[in-house]
Amino acid sequence: EAKSRGPGRYKVYDPSYGELANQRSLLLYDLRHAISQRQLSLVYQPQFCTDAQAITGVEVLVRWHHPQRGLVPPDQFIPLAEQHGLICQITDFVMQTGIRELLEHQLLYKHIPRVSFNVSATDFNGSGSCDRFIKNLAELPGDWSVIELELTESAALINLEGVKRVIEVLHDKGVQVSLDDFGTGYSSLNTLRLLPIKEVKIDQSFVQDITNNSQDAKLVRTILAMAKALHLRVVAEGVETHAQATYLKREGCEEFQGYLYARPMPVKNLVTFIENLNQRQRMQS
Ligand code: C2E
Ligand code: MG
Ligand code: MG
Ligand code: MG
Repeated sequence: EAKSRGPGRYKVYDPSYGELANQRSLLLYDLRHAISQRQLSLVYQPQFCTDAQAITGVEVLVRWHHPQRGLVPPDQFIPLAEQHGLICQITDFVMQTGIRELLEHQLLYKHIPRVSFNVSATDFNGSGSCDRFIKNLAELPGDWSVIELELTESAALINLEGVKRVIEVLHDKGVQVSLDDFGTGYSSLNTLRLLPIKEVKIDQSFVQDITNNSQDAKLVRTILAMAKALHLRVVAEGVETHAQATYLKREGCEEFQGYLYARPMPVKNLVTFIENLNQRQRMQS
């Protein structure tokens, strides 16, 4: 068929295309085994208040350590997992492991006000999805207001009915909802209107350029003003420089996440990190 469309169409059969497809299917094959082979683990990235003296929450991020490939970034395997029906398994693993690690370290449980998990649109598919979330959180005593689910706008859009149904049940049990990568989707305002959202996370692509792109700076200022009017919490993502932090603070942003403050880290390091933070606070008071 490609032949009949002339030589220009041979591009479709470019070996690099086949190679790419082949690589993806090999990655998918490996991903199917990653959970049972204990190749997945978690890292935690703290979020900070304005003076960076206290942690306001942590985001849970999954890591895949492949024995041959090394560290495979989530941006590569999460979309693959979403397309091939593996995401629920990953979400269940991440939530259950995150809650277990939190409860194993009472210091964390005592000092971390909020624990945020990333969830996908496909996590909300099907009638069993609500029970799955509830089961994943079951070990957690008391109300579940320490738990936050980070949802992307595109996720909410694809499956709004499913998302809405589950979110409303979880919200009644205290679970909070955050809109991740805010500003990158095209239904931000509609999503805000339809779901009980407590927080937005300004996408790092905006934060990156606020100090040298006046358009991005104005957009960020507008997001902050809107969030204030709607009584939404705002977390700035991907804050890497003091200049970015200074601008964000001046415009009223109150929570910060990024390499400037802390990189994502395994639970043991998080414990040490919080111990050090507490010690510094005690010395100052
Ligand atoms: P995200 O939820 O927007 O997470 C923030 C990403 O930014 C993380 O990348 C984090 O390591 C990175 N980051 C944090 N601070 C900085 C910074 O200062 N500079 C830069 N350049 N990057 C920073 P990561 O861990 O590679 O995750 C990428 C994406 O993969 C996440 O974006 C999220 O969409 C997805 N993801 C990660 N873990 C999970 C998970 O457990 N479940 C689901 N469904 N998705 C996940
Ligand atoms: Mg996130
Ligand atoms: Mg994000
Ligand atoms: Mg992202």
